[in-house]
Formats: sequence, C-alpha cells, structure tokens
Amino acid sequence: MAEKYKNLINGKWVEPTGGKYIENRNPANWDDVIGLYPASTVEDVDTAVAAAKAAFEKWRLVPAPKRGDVLKIVGDKMLTRKDEIAFEMTREMGKVFAETKGDTQEGIDTAYYAASEGRRLFGLNAPSELPNKMNLSFRVPIGVGGFITPWNFPMAIPTWKLFPALICGNTAVFKPAELTPKTAHTLVEIIDEAMHEVLGRDYIPGVINLVHGKGSIIGERISNHPDIDLISFTGSTAVGKRINEVAGASLKRVSLELGGKNAQIVMDDANQELALEAVLWGAFGTTGQRCTATSRLILHEKIYDEFLEKLIARAGKLKLGYGNDKGVDVGPCVSESQRKTVDEYVQIGKNEDKAKLVLGGEFASDGTLKGGWFYKPTIFADVKPEMRIAKEEIFGPVLAVIKTNSLEDAVNILNNTKYGLSSSIFTNNVNDAFRAVRDIRAGITYVNGATIGAEAHMPFGGVKETGNGHREGGWTVYDFYTEWKAVYIDYSGKLQRAQIDNY
Ligand code: NAD
Repeated sequence: MAEKYKNLINGKWVEPTGGKYIENRNPANWDDVIGLYPASTVEDVDTAVAAAKAAFEKWRLVPAPKRGDVLKIVGDKMLTRKDEIAFEMTREMGKVFAETKGDTQEGIDTAYYAASEGRRLFGLNAPSELPNKMNLSFRVPIGVGGFITPWNFPMAIPTWKLFPALICGNTAVFKPAELTPKTAHTLVEIIDEAMHEVLGRDYIPGVINLVHGKGSIIGERISNHPDIDLISFTGSTAVGKRINEVAGASLKRVSLELGGKNAQIVMDDANQELALEAVLWGAFGTTGQRCTATSRLILHEKIYDEFLEKLIARAGKLKLGYGNDKGVDVGPCVSESQRKTVDEYVQIGKNEDKAKLVLGGEFASDGTLKGGWFYKPTIFADVKPEMRIAKEEIFGPVLAVIKTNSLEDAVNILNNTKYGLSSSIFTNNVNDAFRAVRDIRAGITYVNGATIGAEAHMPFGGVKETGNGHREGGWTVYDFYTEWKAVYIDYSGKLQRAQIDNY
C-alpha cells in the first residue's frame, strides 16, 4: 500500500477532510506508485486561510533579517538533500536527473537570495516641500498569499513565489500541481523544520500551509476566498485568465506567469555548432515541457538545408528513458493526457499545408519505454509562421522549423504569436544582435544562448498573453509582495499645510 501524505495546516500535518486521495505515479513507469496525496476540500482551504490570517499578525512583526535566517536554513537543508529531492522529482515528473538537480539548485539560489533580502528590503526617502518635515517610505507586507503552481518546475517555481513572499512578511496557502505533490511536500517540510529551528518556542503555526488537491476545487477556492489578499500563479494561459477573473472580483493583487511559444533564430553568420547544441537543449530538454522551451527554430535560408540535416541526425540519436538512469537525454511526457495533446498537435501539423514531418511524430514504446508516456523527439520542417504548430503552445518534444531570409523577417516571425516569454538569436554580427534585442517582443532574450536557462537573481516573466506584467526572480519580485507606505514626520511644532502655506 502506497504511503499516504498529509496537508500542513496551522503547523500540523493533517488528513484531508473527506478522506479522499490522489495517486502520484511515475510517468516513466506507470506501475510505480509514489504515494497518495490529499484530494482536499474547500473546508481544508478555509481552515488553512484562517490559520494564515492569524499567523500574519505575528509573522509580520518578526524582524525581516530573522525571517531571512529561516530562509538561510531552508537553503542549507535543500542543499543537504539536493540529490534525494532531485531523484524523487525525476520519479514523479520525468525530466532527467541533471535537470531536476538544476531545478533544486534554483530553489537553493532563491533561498539564499531571499534570505539576504531580509537585510535590504530598501525603502525610499524624498525631501519634503516644507521645512522641518521628513518624508519616508517603507515596504510593508500585504497579508495572506495564495500560491498555485504547475508541475514542470516543481521546486524552483514554488520557491520563486514562497521565499520572497515570506521574507516580506506575508503568510502562505500553497496549492501545488496534482502531478508533483511529493516535491511540494518536501519543500514545505523543510520550511516548517527551519521555522521550528529558528523560532524555537516562538514558532508561529500557519505561516506556511500546504493544501494538496484539484485546481478546479482548491485553486478556485483560493482565487475567490475573501481573506486571501494576493495570488501568485504559474500555469496555462487559460487557467491564468480564469484566476484573474475570479480574483479580480475582490481586487486581489494577482501575478500571472503563463504560456510561451519561444523561438530561436539562427542567422547565416552564426556559430552553427553552438546553435545546434542550443536548439537540441532548448527543444528537447525537459521533453519540451518548459514554459521557455524552444518550440520554433527560425533558420536563415543560406544555412537551412545544412543545419536541418545535422539537427535531424543529432535529435534522432537522443536517448529516451527513465531520467534517473545514466545516459538518458529525454524523459517521458508528464502524463497520458499531456502525451495525447502532443500527438494531437502532431496530427494537426501533418495535416497543415506543406509542413514536412522529418523526425519522430509518434509514441516511443519499445522495450522499457512501454510502461511510460514517451514521445519521440519530433521535427517539422518548412513550417509557415501562420500554421497552428508555429503559433500555439504544444508543451512537448516538438520543434517547428521555419525558413527566413533576413533579420527583419526573422524577428517578425518570432513575434507572430500571442505569447512573449523567451527568445534567442544566434549571430556573430553585433549590429544584428542589438537590433534583435531591441525589436523582439519577449520578457527574455538570449544572444548566442538557448531559450532556456534563466538565473534566479534576474527578472523572469513575459509580455502579451504570457503574463500580466509582473516578474518573478531578482529584485523586481519584492515589489509584488509588498505595499508602499508613505510616512510624513513633521517636527516644526506647528500645523504646516502642503501646497497652501508654501505657495
Ligand atoms: P495548468 O494551468 O493546467 O495548472 C497549473 C496549476 O493551476 C495547477 O496547480 C492546477 O491544479 C491549477 N488549476 C487548474 N485549474 C484551476 C482553476 N480553475 N483555478 C485555480 N487553479 C487551477 O498548467 P500546467 O499544465 O500545470 O503547466 C503547464 C503550463 O504552465 C504551460 O502553459 C506552461 O507554459 C506554463 N508555465 C509557465 C511558466 C512561466 O513562468 N511563464 C513556467 C512554467 C509553466
């Protein structure tokens, strides 16, 4: 019998009301049951929110550097358990061990960055227009945050949200993706342990609450709960729009990090070997299931045939398998339904006028792959920018290759989607590189790098339907998790009237 996991509510690990559970299985080997995780109810969310609301009144008064001490210990604990976390993450969502280690490292980096922010969280001062008066402004915490996350970065994404939120003095109700509950459990276990270690007898129950369960139930309740003050969501554009609509009704602050349809441009003067390595990594790393995955390759006509031939040869050699096994390059799709979506897009691509399927395009089910949701790395050549496979997010190992004849045309093709997350250009022409940086409409642009590889201390997010203007990571995220409070201190000893007495 698989182990039953619990929610963390008000400082205690508790069973879900209703007693229902969701199975967590290994996408590379469907017979491997990892555990049973709470299928929580609206009641569980309500209890968690009440706990977080009460905890906020205490947590906001803990000095920010002390809150930072908690996150420092969190980072240390994650470092100690890095291999174990990565192994289990690969087991529950499929990407290869080197990548799940990277995912965990991003969480560690975020912990240390946020911990040090506890000694900054700078305010701003400005001169007063009146004599003997001082104007200051401070950041203050907002209250209870609802955090809803996807399965593709089960550690990094929750840490991008929870650590800055906590350091700023907010409390949290966290609902992870149904497909990756184990990594979420470990993260919250670590945070709670660190809270106990640092606060000791002053431990505050309810600062972090974990409520597992379905998006349609738990996510909806978080979105409409009157006592949730802010929501940070990463996931699909469709769900993001729904959350924005529901949460907007009560004027919650909402940060949305949504889908992408990222492209890599390769100009005729580029270092082709480098560009080739980058597109293999960008398109097929994480089985193409990254919001920043390279799903379009825009190739200059002068190198088109030569580059494509090499790409097909190299992609055809990628080894599929269980990501914890040595030598494996590409893991499975995360679920049966995700693989079905990928295959549906491949059928759409096959039927679209003039796109040529030149690699893959089918399930991979030979030998040990039979028990998992594997899909062969797939390449379509001669894709036209207006085709659906060139515009819509597929979220799988499928690359659309498009021909271009100039920088201007390449950038236009790149910009021709409703998304704007990541982008890349390979060129050795410095003028083209700078023009591309200026004209590409995306939150992230790499020059001579793959579309994937964001660093934890830089702003992360996108334009257009990739989000609603906020950024995670770096220094920018602290604006999302705080309110500005303006303070005027008058030491003149008389009533001074701004705009009246002085003009
Ligand atoms: P998803 O939108 O299906 O689910 C994300 C989360 O939302 C899950 O926890 C889910 O349970 C929850 N949810 C579902 N319905 C809900 C509802 N009605 N109300 C509230 N919550 C609800 O996305 P996914 O399949 O888990 O992840 C893949 C998507 O995430 C892709 O579109 C990808 O591009 C995007 N993504 C974006 C970024 C980014 O930073 N821009 C990063 C990673 C993934």
